[in-house]
Amino acid sequence: MHRIRRIVLAVGLAASISGAKGQTTVRVGTASAAQGQKATGYLEVPAGVDGATSIPVVVVHGAKPGKVLALVSGAHGTEYASIIAIEKLIDRLDPAQISGTVILVPLVNIASFEQKVPHVNPVDGKSMNRFYPGKADGTQTERASYLITKEIVDRCDYLIDYHGGDLDESLRPYAYWAPTGREEQDRISKLMVLAFGLDHIIIWRERPSDPAATRYLDNTAAVLGKPSIVVEAGHAGTVETDDVALLVNGTLSTMHALKMLPGESRPIENPVWIEKLADVLAEGPGIWYPLVKRGTYVSAGMKLGTITDYVGRVIAEPRAPVSGVVLHVNAVPSLKKGDNIADIGVVAAQAP
Ligand SMILES: [Zn+2]
Repeated sequence: MHRIRRIVLAVGLAASISGAKGQTTVRVGTASAAQGQKATGYLEVPAGVDGATSIPVVVVHGAKPGKVLALVSGAHGTEYASIIAIEKLIDRLDPAQISGTVILVPLVNIASFEQKVPHVNPVDGKSMNRFYPGKADGTQTERASYLITKEIVDRCDYLIDYHGGDLDESLRPYAYWAPTGREEQDRISKLMVLAFGLDHIIIWRERPSDPAATRYLDNTAAVLGKPSIVVEAGHAGTVETDDVALLVNGTLSTMHALKMLPGESRPIENPVWIEKLADVLAEGPGIWYPLVKRGTYVSAGMKLGTITDYVGRVIAEPRAPVSGVVLHVNAVPSLKKGDNIADIGVVAAQAP
C-alpha cells in the first residue's frame, strides 16, 4: 500500500519537474511570450470582401506551468466597463505569480469602439457575438470570429466572455452559466461562475450544439468541452468604479478557484438563479418613458413605462409578461420597431 503510493508520487513529481524545465514560448497572433513573460501583439484579420482589422491581444505566460485561460471583451465595442476591466487586468496580471497562461483580448470590435456604434460591427452591420465559429471567406465579423476560434478558443482550456449594458441599455450585473450535460465540464463552469461572484446568474439552456453553428463565443468553447462563462456589468456608456471592480475582482477570484493564482477565491454563496428570460420588444417607433429601473422586481402585468409618439400622444404601455427582476431596461428615449425595451429574468425556484 505505502510502496505503491510512493511510486505514484515519484512519477507525479518527475512529470512536474520536466514540465517546469520546458522553457516554452506561447504565441498568439503576433504576440509571443516566453515563460514568465507578458507580450502584446495582434490577431491580424486579413482583408476579404471588406477591410482588414487588427485585434489587440496580450499573452501573460506564467512562470509556472498550467492551464490556459482566455479573457475576451469588446465584441460589442461600446460596452465600456467590460473593456476597461480587461485593460486593468492587462496591467494587474503578474506572470511571476501565475501558473499557466492567460490570453487577454480587450477589444474585439474596434470599429464599434472608435465610431461609438452599439451592438454591431459598423463595417458589416453584424453582431460580433452571433457568427461563431466564423468563416474564413465571410465578412469582417465572420473572418474575425474564425480567427478568434482558431487562435483563442482552440488553444484555451477555459474561457470568459465579458459584456455589459450597451450605450442604450441600463443593466444590472449578472453572469450566464450554460450547463452542457457533461458532468465534469459543468462542475468546473459552475465553479467558475460562483467564484466570479456576480450575484445574479442566468441558467442558459437550449443552446446550439452543432460545432459549425455555435453562434456565441462562449458556446464555441463549450461545445469543444471547455468550461466557459459570460459575465456582464456596466451600463449605458458609463465606466463606474463598482462595475469595473466586479469584473476585475471576479476574474482574479476565478483564477484563484482554477489554481492559476495562489490564494483563496471568494465565491458567491447564495446567488439569485434566473431560469428564464422574457424580452419585451417595441411594436413601433416612439419616445420611451420608463417606470422601472435596472434591478427592479416586477409582477406579471405591471406597467414598465409609457411610449408616446413625437407629439406626446400615448401609443403603448408595455407591461411585464412575467414576474421577475428587470435585468436591463432601455436607457434612452429613442425606440424603433423591434428594439428591446426590457429583459425580465424569472427567478428559479431552486438553485441548480
Ligand atoms: Zn455585449
